[in-house]
Amino acid sequence: MPELPEVENTVRDLQEAGITGSRVIEAKVAWPRTVGGDSDSFCNRVRGRQLTAVNRRGKFVVLVFDDDLVGLLHLRMSGRLSIEPSESASGAYDRVTLVLDSSRELRFHDPRKFGRFLLHSSTDAERILGQLGVEPLDREAFSVEFFSRQLKGRRRRIKPLLLDQRVVSGLGNIYADESLWEAGIHPARTAASLQQAEIEALVAAIPRVLERAVAAGGTSLGAGHGNHRLPSGRSTDGQNGLQVYGKAGTACTRCGGTVARRILAQRSTHYCPRCQPEARIRGVLLDMDGTMIETERILIRSFQQAAAEWGLHLAYDDLLVTIGKTAEVSRELLRGILGEVVSFETCSTRAEELALEAIAIQGIARRPGLEEFLDELTRQGIPHAVATSTHRREAEYMLTQAGIRDRFSTMVCGDEVSRGKPAPEIYQRAAAQLGLEARDCLAIEDSEPGVRAAAAAGAHTVLIPDLVQPSTRARVAAARVCTTLVEVTALLRDGSILYDA
Ligand SMILES: [Zn+2]
Repeated sequence: MPELPEVENTVRDLQEAGITGSRVIEAKVAWPRTVGGDSDSFCNRVRGRQLTAVNRRGKFVVLVFDDDLVGLLHLRMSGRLSIEPSESASGAYDRVTLVLDSSRELRFHDPRKFGRFLLHSSTDAERILGQLGVEPLDREAFSVEFFSRQLKGRRRRIKPLLLDQRVVSGLGNIYADESLWEAGIHPARTAASLQQAEIEALVAAIPRVLERAVAAGGTSLGAGHGNHRLPSGRSTDGQNGLQVYGKAGTACTRCGGTVARRILAQRSTHYCPRCQPEARIRGVLLDMDGTMIETERILIRSFQQAAAEWGLHLAYDDLLVTIGKTAEVSRELLRGILGEVVSFETCSTRAEELALEAIAIQGIARRPGLEEFLDELTRQGIPHAVATSTHRREAEYMLTQAGIRDRFSTMVCGDEVSRGKPAPEIYQRAAAQLGLEARDCLAIEDSEPGVRAAAAAGAHTVLIPDLVQPSTRARVAAARVCTTLVEVTALLRDGSILYDA
């Protein structure tokens, strides 16, 4: 559990206690595994050595002795160091004790026994420490350029990458979560998905968070044996400054949202879904039929009434073509309803005309919540476009009838791109017209073919089924399934619309 701030404070306490220059008279090992298994060898090597320096590298306490000897201490879960008068009683969890010539003892206390205190030649110690990544408090080394190179092209998620001591040394679970919150970056984002501004924010946040924690003396959570304490016994206040770590369910101090917790790479991870969206949606692509317009319901009702009133003979397949519905389920629905009132004969010349007339009689219904959704997009400044396999003429007509044509300055229709079939190119072209890439966009669809085409283009997808319950395949294809546009608006508003980047 001790991370850079706790180790840094431990080292400062040891330096201030003035043990540098002391000679080791004797060593005692109560738990051989702490020193690598061979207690005698450990004691023989360190006995008589003079301590010349105490340093920190990553999460290691580095004890430099004369005669080419270096002690590398790792506190792991529960380790801590203390300096006690020689006459004071040793503790039950003191695993290693160095008796110093200044009538004091350096004790390595470690209830859970995961800590290690190993001796190396200076060459070996250098090799081990050389494998550690950059020191985040070294502002020159931990630069935006350095960090950008580390992230470039990596599919790995950012939180596990921050915990990797070979990239940045000293960060652990607490300060990785805190730094990501401070920078507004979701812990599950892939390294490669971070934008330049986000990399800069994170490179600034990490040392800021660590320096604050160092100044507070580090962090101590919980109580009892596992509780972290400093060698001098002075208090650690870092826990009071934590924003998300251990705060699941409480209000985010920045936005008032609720701090969430989830397991990521086997580690408990804390974040604010609102301040740290999993992917930043920079544009929204909306399908037409079913998504914005209640096409199926309206057309079925319209045709039913028109046909009944006019006693017309309608060509069933022509109707399907006209309203752009070829899905088997729509066919079945139409057949069922139309079958009651009309007989099917070829009547292709009048089909489209009749369809449009029927729509005009009934009016076009917007899906519930459409206006509120568009208003939210406008309020948040999220550009949006129509991306649909529907033919332009029909789409223009429906949007105009629905009174929302002026809400869209960008519109890409199927007949212009893919002969009316759902295709990734529709979404790519619509995103490009917004000045974005499809992967920056959220595509909202009501059907499986649309969701699959949008996902193939790289867009994040939401499925809001209209009449038909989505198939398992459709549910799998969609990043998220919502019941209504109202639900999508709520997610957009509280910022918790989450997608894998
Ligand atoms: Zn927040």
